[in-house]
Amino acid sequence: MNSGEIRYAMLESGEKIQYVYRDNPPRGGMKHTFFTPDRRYAVQFFNNPKDAADPLMQDRIRTIVGIYNPTRAENAGGAQGNTEKTADYFSRKFCWPVGIIKYPEFGIVCPTYPDNFFFGEGASAVLRLTGKDKKSNWFTGRNRKYLNPSELGDFRMMLKAAIGLARSVRRLHQAGLAHSDLSCNNVLIDPKTGSSVVIDIDSLVVPNKYLPEVCGTRGYIAPEVIETMEYGVNDPRKTLPSALTDLHAMPVLIYEYLFLRHPLIGPKIYSTESAEKDDFLAMGPSATFIEHPEDHSNRPPDLDVTIQSLSKGLEELFLRAFVDGLHRPEERPTAMEWERELLRAWNRLLPCSNEACSRKWFILRDENEPVCPFCGTRYSEPVIRIALKSEVRGKSGIFREKSEVFAYDNLALFDWHVYSTVHNDEKADALMRAYICKHDGKWLLVNNTINGLISPAGRLVPKGNAVELKDGAVLRMSDSLNGMLAEITMTLNNES
Ligand SMILES: [Zn+2]
Repeated sequence: MNSGEIRYAMLESGEKIQYVYRDNPPRGGMKHTFFTPDRRYAVQFFNNPKDAADPLMQDRIRTIVGIYNPTRAENAGGAQGNTEKTADYFSRKFCWPVGIIKYPEFGIVCPTYPDNFFFGEGASAVLRLTGKDKKSNWFTGRNRKYLNPSELGDFRMMLKAAIGLARSVRRLHQAGLAHSDLSCNNVLIDPKTGSSVVIDIDSLVVPNKYLPEVCGTRGYIAPEVIETMEYGVNDPRKTLPSALTDLHAMPVLIYEYLFLRHPLIGPKIYSTESAEKDDFLAMGPSATFIEHPEDHSNRPPDLDVTIQSLSKGLEELFLRAFVDGLHRPEERPTAMEWERELLRAWNRLLPCSNEACSRKWFILRDENEPVCPFCGTRYSEPVIRIALKSEVRGKSGIFREKSEVFAYDNLALFDWHVYSTVHNDEKADALMRAYICKHDGKWLLVNNTINGLISPAGRLVPKGNAVELKDGAVLRMSDSLNGMLAEITMTLNNES
C-alpha cells in the first residue's frame, strides 16, 4: 500500500467515503486517523483490533452517533427534541462522530474542526505552531508569552469561550451523557473569536452502557478519581469518571481561561518523599484551592486578580467547585448553573478605559467602584445599567426585574433583551435587534429590527431610529406580548 493512495471505506449507512492512506497516520491512545481528500472529515480506525471488534464498544458508538447525537435533528435520527436549529448550533460546538465504518474494518467518521482552531502562519516567532490545534494551554500556560499578541484575544473572548464550554457540557449532561475526559487537549479554543469546540467525543460515557476507557488528563482529573486509581476496575471503592468528575474538570478549564493559571497548582509542597507522592497528594486527597479563603498554604504570593475580582455569582460558584465540592463531588455546581452565572457576568462586562490594558475588558463587580482589576484603571464613562423587567403573569401592568445588562459603546441587544420569553441559549435567534452607541456625548439605543419599541415619552421608535438613554428613563423594548420594560440608571464616575 502506498502512502498518498486513495482508499474507500464503506459506512453502515451504505454510503462510500474516500480517504487518503498514509504509512504513518497520526496516532492517539486509542485510534489512528486518515483524512478525506478534501480534509473535511477524519476517518478513524482503532489501534487495537480487539477494541474494534468489541460488540459493547460498537454498540456504544452507535448510540453516540444516533439517539444521543445533539448535532443531528431528531427527525434525522439524532437526539430527542433536537431541532434543525439546535443541531446546527451544536455541530459547531462538538466534533461529533457522524458515521460508522463497517469496511475495511470498524471505525468512525468525524468532521474535522474548522480552520480557526488551527494556528496559522506567524502565530509565534519562537514556537513552531503552524498547523497545530489550539489546545487551551497554549493560551493559559507559560507559552502564552511566545504567542503573537493577535492570537491572544481578550478577557471578553475568554469569557465567551467559557460560556460555550459550559453550554456544551450542559447539553451533554442534559442528555445523561458524561464526557469523562475534559481537558485542555479535548476542548479547543480560539481566543480571537471566543469560540470553543469539544473534541474526542467517542470516549463519552453512556450511563449503564459502558465504563469509561480513560481516567482523564493530568491537571483535570477529579481528586476522588486520583485517590482511588490504585483499585481495579471492578473494585467498588474505585471512582470512575462521570458527570460529577466533568463538574471538576470544567471549572478548572473555566478558571484557566479567566485567570490564565491553574486553580490547584500553587507553592505548597505536599511531600518531600518523592515527586510522585507530592503530585498524588497535590491533585488527589490533599488538593487545595490556591484561593482557599481560610487555608492559605497553597496561595501564591502574587495573587492580585482573584475570584473576588469577578461577579459575586461567579465567586460563589468557584468556591463551591474548589472549596466545598473539591473533595465532596455532589456539592459541585452543575453545568447549567455555570452557564447561567457566566451569562450574568457577560451582562456585566465593561471595556477597560486603559488602551494598554492586557485583558481589555472586565466584569463590573461593584457599580460604585468601576475599576478594572487587571490594570487598576477607573472606568471613565458613566455606568449605565439597564434593568430588564417582565410583566408578572396575570397582573397586567406589574413588572418584575428579570435580568440586567450594562451598556457600553457598540453593545448589541438581542431577542433575550426584548422579550421575557426568550433566553440566551441555543434556541435563541442570533440576530441583533438593537445596539447602544455613544454619539456626540449622548448615549443612544438604536432600533434595528424591533417592532413596537416605545420611547420614555410613549412614542414609537421606528426601525433605524434612536432613543436617548438618560438616568431614570423607562422604555418599552416592545409593545408586543412579552415585551420587556427597560429601566435606565446612569451613574457618573468622575475620578475624584
Ligand atoms: Zn484594564
